[in-house]
Amino acid sequence: MQSDYNAAWHTLAMNEAFSKLESSPEGLSPAEAQARLAQVGQNKLKEGKRKSVFAIFLAQFADFMIWVLIAAAVISAFLGEWVDCGIILFVVILNAVMGTVQESRAEAALEALKNMVAPMARVVRDGVLHIVPAALLVPGDVVLIEAGDLIPADIRLFECASLKVEESALTGESVPVDKDTKPVGDAGAAIGDRTNMAYMATSAAYGRASGVVVSTGMETQVGKIAAQLGAAQKETTPLSQKLNQISNILSIGVLIVAALIFAIGLLSGRELFDMFLTAVSLAVAAIPEGLVAVITIVLAMGMGRMAQRGAIIRRLPAVETLGSTQVICSDKTGTLTENRMTVKSVRTDDEPLLWQAMGHCNDSRLSKKDKALGDPTETALIDYLLQNGHWSTDALRGRTRAGEIPFDSQRKRSSVAVGLKQGGLRIFVKGAPDVLITRCLLDDDMRARIERENDEMAEKALRVLAFAYKDVETVDTRDVEGTESELIFIGLVGMIDPPRAEAAEAIRTCRAAGILPVMITGDHKATAVAVAQSLGILSDGRRALTGAELEQMDDAALDADIEGIGVYARVAPEHKTRIVEAWQRRGKVVAMTGDGVNDAPALKKADIGVGMGITGTDVSKGASDMVLTDDNFATIVTAVGEGRRIYDNIHKTAKFLLSSNAGEVIAVLVATLLGWRMLAPVHILWINLVTDTFPALALGVEPAENDIMQRSPRDKKTAFLTGGDWLRILCVGAAEALLTLAAFIVGARVYASPELGMTMAFLTLSLTQLFATLGFQSERHSVFTMKAGQHRALWIALFGSAALQMIVVLVSPLRELFGLAAPSLVQYGIVLGLCIGMLMFIELLKSFTRMLWKRGEEK
Ligand code: ATP
Repeated sequence: MQSDYNAAWHTLAMNEAFSKLESSPEGLSPAEAQARLAQVGQNKLKEGKRKSVFAIFLAQFADFMIWVLIAAAVISAFLGEWVDCGIILFVVILNAVMGTVQESRAEAALEALKNMVAPMARVVRDGVLHIVPAALLVPGDVVLIEAGDLIPADIRLFECASLKVEESALTGESVPVDKDTKPVGDAGAAIGDRTNMAYMATSAAYGRASGVVVSTGMETQVGKIAAQLGAAQKETTPLSQKLNQISNILSIGVLIVAALIFAIGLLSGRELFDMFLTAVSLAVAAIPEGLVAVITIVLAMGMGRMAQRGAIIRRLPAVETLGSTQVICSDKTGTLTENRMTVKSVRTDDEPLLWQAMGHCNDSRLSKKDKALGDPTETALIDYLLQNGHWSTDALRGRTRAGEIPFDSQRKRSSVAVGLKQGGLRIFVKGAPDVLITRCLLDDDMRARIERENDEMAEKALRVLAFAYKDVETVDTRDVEGTESELIFIGLVGMIDPPRAEAAEAIRTCRAAGILPVMITGDHKATAVAVAQSLGILSDGRRALTGAELEQMDDAALDADIEGIGVYARVAPEHKTRIVEAWQRRGKVVAMTGDGVNDAPALKKADIGVGMGITGTDVSKGASDMVLTDDNFATIVTAVGEGRRIYDNIHKTAKFLLSSNAGEVIAVLVATLLGWRMLAPVHILWINLVTDTFPALALGVEPAENDIMQRSPRDKKTAFLTGGDWLRILCVGAAEALLTLAAFIVGARVYASPELGMTMAFLTLSLTQLFATLGFQSERHSVFTMKAGQHRALWIALFGSAALQMIVVLVSPLRELFGLAAPSLVQYGIVLGLCIGMLMFIELLKSFTRMLWKRGEEK
């Protein structure tokens, strides 16, 4: 099948194309599609090869400090220091293994997310409409295309209703191209001139069409280009870039201190090799290389959790931005409401004509089981017609049309032309009442009556559609204005779309979290206000504005007013962009939802573009940072909470890691200055191994603090680590070092055993870090208010790490290997006391900070 892909499909007449593809407008049979899939493979572009686990493992060695360590191991071996050599190599390999595990888990999580947003296609097989993953399309499949769809394969169009396709991905031309079905004479026509073809990776900007798939996967035009392109770039986030910078600067600092320690040690007559190993070990331990790695895995795991809760992150930086969201602009229909419409009210003087209009001017189709499929506004009309016996299912299936102008949210109306028995055509138009009224031939009384009825329905939160018609001899649907004017009014239909059960609660959560909810809708102002009021969006005294009123305002007026507007009604998609920009000029971080093809610019402009997984068009999803699998407003709020939790945890992890490293550097520096051999190089490496990984990861996956959605959003301008944070990091590091030195003095002086001093310092330096983890678990609240049961990962990490640390001291062969002594119970008690002292110190620091904050808030 695929071997024919070079055929000049655009030159063929439709029957030739179908016979070449052994297909028809009814599509393939499911069995034939299956067989072709087995033959030609999935309709997917090959991606750059995923890194193998072994490659990830090897990549762990692309680090300067690892090579310094390996060099140190080799030198140790030359000098016959087999123990040192063995332990260093063990540390190197363990580090690489842990790095590999972390990185492959992060990659797997990202990969799984990618598959969750796989595009779907509407395909006709044996005359029945199916929605299948686009990957399963095969040549010969008949597909339906609507505005907003990504074109799922290379397609020859055989039925076209004003289709315009945006082909910039292939041709560079950003103005959408008009499509039709006529054969193109020139076999060598450029892609952009093949007007009866739609190509994979382009998108439908307007209209509707049916076509037959001619090639899939790597045989498509874009597939041929993709084959020439390399693998996609790896994405980094602003936060990981910032942390990378911090870690680079600190690395230089650590290297300088390590060199200093080496020099001082030599000057004070210590052994050259011992001092060299000490300096290297310290550098390895204190360089915060783990920081960025931990952040990556925390972000990836956070994305996994968000996906489970219905929010798929498409761009990694969104995770960070989410937490600082200050304004959420949301669509009404489907996001705040259920998008389950039911006709509640019908007003007309000519019922039979209204039933005709409702049935004909309607794109929904019937499924095999007679269920209406399509846009909920339209399926509600069909449901009503069927339930009340105004149409039969057979009659609905037999509908034909002579022309149409599809709905778009700009015009807010749609038209269908139907052939009349007596000859000529009847054009049915439906749309927003306020829009249709201006296109109908009406006297003043009639107009006033319709407006009154419309208002009555809208104030009851009903979504109202008006219907009109006119009879003509012929129609040119390209003349939209002419076709949709001088209409005769038929009637109004009002339908209810109940607010989502969880929406009101989510709005309350938003307010408590200092986030402003804003409703933006294409619906009538009265309908929008009624829904907004029932949800509590306008409870703060803000008002509603219409798109027309918005257009009257210049940017300055909008900026001055924006905080006072809670609802925008009858807006067009381009208004959304203006609203986003106005908020951004006020320095706010804005999330904006969107589903239509024209929403893409606003979604891109917003700090967080939120796409709709169920009702969203491919184009809008592609422009989003986050896609909701349930289209639900409450899910955005949940995701913001998750974003805050992740940011919080990264902050805690960074503070913990940096203070631990500071503790190690200060302790070894002071000891060297005092001429003490307090810790052997392998001790330093071991402590780093025990404390750097598990507790840091555990802090990264901590549950959210209870009050996380009761704080104001983080100001995006504040630095990730403030001056205060650095001071706290230094204080905690200094305290750890001090306690370690104290432990050494007790062992080496009071008990007069250098080995015991070393052992006590070894235990104290690592265990104080583990106790500090408990202190860092909350940045604001005391550890004594912590609900112990909720922190499983943290406890496992702490006890696991403590056990690793203790094993070296408790198991005698290991103890001898590390050159340590066995402390008595009292001596263990002293170490424990010092550790508790560490925790108390952090709690003291926190209560001091809390006091400062309180004062700040009172001012
Ligand atoms: P939101 O922006 O919150 O999703 P919405 O769904 O009401 O709100 P649009 O879909 O842009 O926004 O619809 C705007 C108006 O157009 C509706 O209020 C309705 O009057 C009219 N309308 C909606 N769907 C159709 C349709 N299929 N055919 C004709 N008119 C429609």
